[in-house]
Amino acid sequence: MLESFIPFANPRAAYMERRDKILDAVVRVFDGGRYILGETVGTFEKAFAAYLGLDHAVGCASGTDAIELALRGLGIGRGKAVFTVSHTAVATVAAIERAGAVPVLVDIDEALYTMSPDSLEETILHVRETRPDLAPAAVVPVHIYGHPCDMDAILDIAARYGLSVVEDCAQAHGARYKGKVAGTMGHAAAFSFYPTKNLGALGDAGAVVTNDAALAAELRAQRQYGWKERYISAAPGVNSRMDPVQAAILSVQLRHLDKDNAARRAIAATCSAELAACGLGLPGVAAWAKHVFHLYVVRCKERPKLVCFLKNSGIGTAVHYPQPVHLQPAYRNRLPLAPNGLPATESIMNEIVSLPMFPQIGSIDVKRVCTVLKEYFAAREQ
Ligand SMILES: *Cc1c(COP(=O)(O)O)cnc(C)c1O
Repeated sequence: MLESFIPFANPRAAYMERRDKILDAVVRVFDGGRYILGETVGTFEKAFAAYLGLDHAVGCASGTDAIELALRGLGIGRGKAVFTVSHTAVATVAAIERAGAVPVLVDIDEALYTMSPDSLEETILHVRETRPDLAPAAVVPVHIYGHPCDMDAILDIAARYGLSVVEDCAQAHGARYKGKVAGTMGHAAAFSFYPTKNLGALGDAGAVVTNDAALAAELRAQRQYGWKERYISAAPGVNSRMDPVQAAILSVQLRHLDKDNAARRAIAATCSAELAACGLGLPGVAAWAKHVFHLYVVRCKERPKLVCFLKNSGIGTAVHYPQPVHLQPAYRNRLPLAPNGLPATESIMNEIVSLPMFPQIGSIDVKRVCTVLKEYFAAREQ
């Protein structure tokens, strides 16, 4: 029997599972006649804020915009240094530059892939010494792959140096740090609802969340031309509204988020148990973390061979990310870095690979992925 190809992600599978509810919700938007913001967006914003246990969620057009808006809303722009990691989606860094600030890239903890608090502090001190033109203003920790950063350490450093904290939660819907929900620990947090994310739209969407009412009001103005009242811009803004069609879809998807995350965690548990002895580097999970496995990332020194073997066995993979931001052509030799460079970031970049991970994958396919991996390593040993 020819087995079908297992993709590394499959947002269509979630859509197919909820197709009737999603299409009903979409039809209600079109029939309702309100095509910009309105009640559909407001309903999702309230539900998402309540899910996180926060007062405010402000929908916008993408996760990239959410980071930019959060920084703008906090008054962070020209002449400011914003600290983040190079091991992230390029969107994190692009958004900081769009806000007008200078991204400063710090290293990661090699076992967890998240921001190293030690590297953060060293880099802040380095910027203070070497860049009198830049005022350290904010830190954007990225809860990469669905694993929360060491937030107590990062919040402590931020408080000592007077930095605002904007969590990049694009991969961490529902993740927890010491019981606290990702997105509730900083001054604000940015979410992406890109289709493959743990909470995914069927198009682009994002949101900024916060408990700060004044910031939320500022963000509502910023996302719509700076309007405080209709047609009157209080300050220059942008156009980055959440599409009500996507909001309607997200309200359906949100009801499945906890169940989807539980499925991701069960898949990860199966893979980590099955693959424990085979020679792959498995994802580390800190004692403080509830990991929601946006991605299941393993390490292998001979990645190209492994990827090829999996592909020939009908298994898709991806690399998140093949080049850290500071080595990409758009950013190379241009952004300030940690004083000793980014050795941990560079040591993983040629080894990481994301295995298939989505809630609907099914246990037979999970087993097949594990079996093929074990075959690969067994053959190599002979
Ligand atoms: C997906 C993602 C973003 C950007 O989100 P978009 O909705 O694609 O703009 C930002 N940061 C991280 C870590 C992401 O994974």
